[in-house]
Amino acid sequence: MEKRPFKELGLSPEILKAVDKMGFEEASPIQTAVIPFGMAGRDVVGQSATGSGKTAAFAIPAIEKVDTHVRKVQVLVLCPTRELAVQVAEEFGKLAFFKKGLMEVPIYGGQSYERQFRALASGAQVVIGTPGRVMDHMERGTLRLDTLKVVVLDEVDRMLDMGFRDDIDHILKSVPVERQCLFFSATVSRAIQELIKRYTRNPEWVRIEAHAQNAPQVEQVYFEVDRRSKIELLTRLIDLHDFRFGLVFCSTKIMVDELDDHLHARGYSTDRLHGDITQAQRTRVMEKFRRRGFEFLIATDVAARGLDVDDLEVVFNFDLPNDAEDYTHRIGRTGRAGKKGMAFTFVAGRELYKLQNMIHYGRLKMRRERVPSMDEVEEAKGNVFYEKLRVTLEAKKFKAHNQMIDQLLEQGFTSTDIASALIHLLQGVAAEPAKAPTKPKAARIAANEYVVAPAAPAREPVTPRSSFPARTAGAKPGLSRKEFGIARAGYERKPRTGREPGYSTVSFNVGRAQLVTPADLVGKIAGVTRLPASIVGAIDIHEDHTLVDVASEHAELVVAKLAGIRVKNQSLKMAIVPPRMK
Ligand code: ADP
Ligand code: MG
Repeated sequence: MEKRPFKELGLSPEILKAVDKMGFEEASPIQTAVIPFGMAGRDVVGQSATGSGKTAAFAIPAIEKVDTHVRKVQVLVLCPTRELAVQVAEEFGKLAFFKKGLMEVPIYGGQSYERQFRALASGAQVVIGTPGRVMDHMERGTLRLDTLKVVVLDEVDRMLDMGFRDDIDHILKSVPVERQCLFFSATVSRAIQELIKRYTRNPEWVRIEAHAQNAPQVEQVYFEVDRRSKIELLTRLIDLHDFRFGLVFCSTKIMVDELDDHLHARGYSTDRLHGDITQAQRTRVMEKFRRRGFEFLIATDVAARGLDVDDLEVVFNFDLPNDAEDYTHRIGRTGRAGKKGMAFTFVAGRELYKLQNMIHYGRLKMRRERVPSMDEVEEAKGNVFYEKLRVTLEAKKFKAHNQMIDQLLEQGFTSTDIASALIHLLQGVAAEPAKAPTKPKAARIAANEYVVAPAAPAREPVTPRSSFPARTAGAKPGLSRKEFGIARAGYERKPRTGREPGYSTVSFNVGRAQLVTPADLVGKIAGVTRLPASIVGAIDIHEDHTLVDVASEHAELVVAKLAGIRVKNQSLKMAIVPPRMK
């Protein structure tokens, strides 16, 4: 589906200035398709995925229709939740920034009628609200819709899910017949088709297929896992990919509570949302999450409605969603703004059949992966640390401590010894989270009182707030949150490739340019060859290629088996680097 510059869509200079100020470079496909119909006064049914820019698709033509000299309600937008009403109102505010005299007001339950009444009485032309509150105001006579020109139904599918069907009917029956109607929904069920038939006139249908959009790319993977092992799998995946910002869906409140307690006890920074949590608390949690005040939000579907966060790295379906629609809603929160997101779905026992049905009927693009082994997780964690260290060294992002180092050198220590000792200290610090409830303790070198901080911030251990004991370093491997898997990976090896006896260096045709990580390569090598990740030695990532040390007896196999396998959308090509070239 094509995208066009906003200035080709017949918009006023005020709107063009506003979209420019908002940093929008061109109209998204749904905007490109909907705006001209909207400007022409046509009714529209718009269907596209979450994050595709539907708000501006209806807000722009709606704003253009407002006569700012008339201080009466001309546009009504119905939304499923107060959070959405507030967000949509904000977007209207930004888009109408240069349109003098335009006033928008969100109205929703939970805010005083007085305040909303004053806003309405002062001549707002655009009202954005939840159906329940809009009806209340209509009945009280504080909201009159007889001057309405445009009515918008945003997220119709969710409004129906939430039981607003009768309210919507009531409202649409009370608006003038001569008005424009814009419907937006991610999916169009039979009930929605009925509404469309009843309340629109010869509408234009605009449907943007997910794959044609300017990118929400989501890598979708499912795992078959025993119910009792789900938490273990979740933490392995978080560690393996080093995720820092994600959403975890559970099917019940009890599961949300339990999982949140468990993860918290294991040192992850989490919080929860479900129906039993007060509205005020919910708003606080959402705000905090949006600001990245914690890393993982555990939630039920209903509680997560209206949560608008961009840039989630990952969505976990800890429990299977009800259907493909819910699934699509859930994972729509990752992979926005052209960044690649990931969605991991866990199925236990008979749920597999349900998932297969969803994949089939919902045409979902998911692939199955096996549960990563503890070795792979440790390997990846070690590589993450190694990579951070390398990047820090390369970027020279550290203060020189020449004086201290010179002193140590004078005392006869080699530079390798000094570096190894520092890594050892860091490892000690990072491996005792349970004893360091606030911040990772900094290691001190007594003589000079130099403070050594980790090369990159470690996850801060969290104080346990439940009866689950925090895992300590000595606990069962894999259950603790050891930040740096130093013991197994990385530093035991020499930090450059090709120097270790028994290893051969293999050159891969992917590198920094493809944003490849050591974990990507180790994962692929171990996955495809079925050999343990420990056959891989040091990894040296360059701009357009990567040198990977592989145990010599397996080097040929790696080259043969991985040829043509895709990593980061690139078909792999490899070659063993002859020893003299190293
Ligand atoms: P939807 O309602 O389809 O889920 P939104 O309207 O909430 O999507 O838009 C998602 C995000 O994309 C918002 O942050 C919005 O500001 C941004 N956005 C919308 N249109 C554009 C555009 N043309 N260019 C860049 N960003 C855009
Ligand atoms: Mg929207």
